[in-house]
Parts: sequence; structure tokens; C-alpha cells
Amino acid sequence: MKKALTLLVFIITLTSFAQKKAVNNDNPTKFMNTITAEKLKTKLTIVASDEMEGRDTGSKGQKKAGNYLIEQYKKSGIPFPKGASSYYQSVPASFMNARYGTLPDSENIWAYIEGSEKPNEVLVISAHYDHVGIKGGEVYNGADDDGSGTVAVLQIAEAFQKAKKEGHDPKRSILFLHVTGEEHGLHGSRFYSEHPLFPIANTVADINIDMIGRRDFDHPNTNNYVYVIGADRLSSDLHNITVAQNDKYTKLDLDFKFNDPKDPNHFYERSDHYNFAKFGIPAVFLFNGVHADYHQKSDEVDKIEFDALAKRAQLAFAIAWDLANRPERIVVDKPIQK
Ligand SMILES: [Zn+2]
Repeated sequence: MKKALTLLVFIITLTSFAQKKAVNNDNPTKFMNTITAEKLKTKLTIVASDEMEGRDTGSKGQKKAGNYLIEQYKKSGIPFPKGASSYYQSVPASFMNARYGTLPDSENIWAYIEGSEKPNEVLVISAHYDHVGIKGGEVYNGADDDGSGTVAVLQIAEAFQKAKKEGHDPKRSILFLHVTGEEHGLHGSRFYSEHPLFPIANTVADINIDMIGRRDFDHPNTNNYVYVIGADRLSSDLHNITVAQNDKYTKLDLDFKFNDPKDPNHFYERSDHYNFAKFGIPAVFLFNGVHADYHQKSDEVDKIEFDALAKRAQLAFAIAWDLANRPERIVVDKPIQK
């Protein structure tokens, strides 16, 4: 009897192992569709509320917003990364103020889903959660900049966690990274890239989301677009995956105007992905462009177009799904551009 039971356990173990091996992660649609305008609105209404005091780097309001993010990760059962001791990566004032400034200590916030097959290869999905605080007694809520990216990263993490719960673990690990100090000089992402939790060499890509909830001056009649910046600068694969996933799942008009290295705005150098790209990590930056409320107190939740925010977040998710699950990691086939 005992022997038979052992054999049975052995067979069950083998079977479940075989099932795990056969997990099909080809189609992200079911999980992608859990990223909805409604859920994003619920979260953004909190992240970009006056209570968060404009989320200036190191402020009480920013810490409150950070607490909210952590609460959400805990609620979804998404842990802080392996090798970390909490959801925080401290970013010291001395680092941020090395050249100039008087910022207080602040924190990046991170959460993590471990890969089932290649756990040592890590995909980063980033957005900055700081904004510019209170000026002249007015709270600058930064609903688009970058409340939109902040809640998108959170919702993308929840979608991956739901997939995991249903047996569709990502093959590679994913780090959800909410960086601080962006508005004062991309400090949080610079700190992470210089003090990475996972080796730079094992970091397969960064998907950075900064402002995806509005439309810009050049798109007065539609919000069904997104600017794609940087994808092809280091890796043809990353560009091709971005285009292919969009063709398959989101069908946004991908606008590459700002990807031109000669574009005078130089957006490629102006958000957090750049601190990954400068170390040779392929990075794609999703962005809606600049509008009249950019860095104004009027960048408020009631002006966010949640259908567009949802669709662009879904595109980020679909790109992430491919990067995390493809058999071989994407190839860097171009030199680092300075
Ligand atoms: Zn921003």
C-alpha cells in the first residue's frame, strides 16, 4: 500500500510538472482585457487627489501615494522583489542633491512577479510616481504626468498576477518599478540603474510609461494613438514586437515622430527609460505628447480620457507579455547612443 501510494504521488507530481511545462502563454487577450478604464479611474482618482499634495519628491503627500501603491500590491498578493527587504528602494537625498538641490530622502517603490522558466532574466515596467507638489497654494495633481503611468503599471501588475493565479506565470521575472524624483532630474531611475537589484546584464528591457491619459495638440480629433519612442534604438526586436503586438491586440496609431533622433524635443532623453537605455538595456517609452495642462495645476483627473489610458496600458501589457514569455530574450543589435 505504502509503495503504491508513493508511486501514485510520483505520477501526480510528474503529471502536474508536465502540465506546467505545457502552459500556453501565446494569447494575452483575456488578461489584457482586465485592464479597464473603470479600474484605472478608481485608482487615479486616489493617486491624483489633493490628499497626495502633488506628490513632490520626498514630501508627505508622495509618501502617502506610495503607501497606496503598496496597499494595492499587498491586496493583489504581489510581493516585493526577491532580494529586497520591503517594497521600498531608498533613494537618499545625498544622491539626488549631488550636483544641486535640496530634496529630502525619497523612495522608489517596487513589486515583483517571478518568472517560472527564466527567473534570472528580468523585465522592468516603469513609471514615475512623483510630480511637482504645491505651488502658490495650489496642488498640482499631475493626473496625466504621471498619475496615468503610475496606475497603468499597477493595473498591468494585477493583470499579470491574475494570469499567474490561473497558471499562466510569466516565463521571465517582471519588476514593477515606480520611480521617484523624475521631475527633478530622473533621479529615481538613475538611482535604480546605478544600484540595480537585478544585474543590468540580466535586465532584458524596460517599458516606460509617462503620460498616456490625454491627447496632444497634434491629435485634436482622436485619442487612438500613442507616441512610441526609443524602441528601435538598441533592439530591432523590441521595435518589431511593439508593432506586432499593437497590430494584433490594440490597433492604436503608433506615432514615431518623436523617435527621430533629430527631433528638437529630445523626449528620448527626458524620461526614466533613458537611464536603462544608457546602459544598453532596450527601452520603449509610451507617451501621449504635450498638452495645455502639462505641468499646470489643471492636469486633473476629470480631463483624463480613460478609454485611451486603458488602451495604451493594454499595449504596454501586450508588449510585456511577449517580452516575458518569448523563448529567447530580445537581442541588442545596435550600439548604445549617447
Ligand atoms: Zn512625467
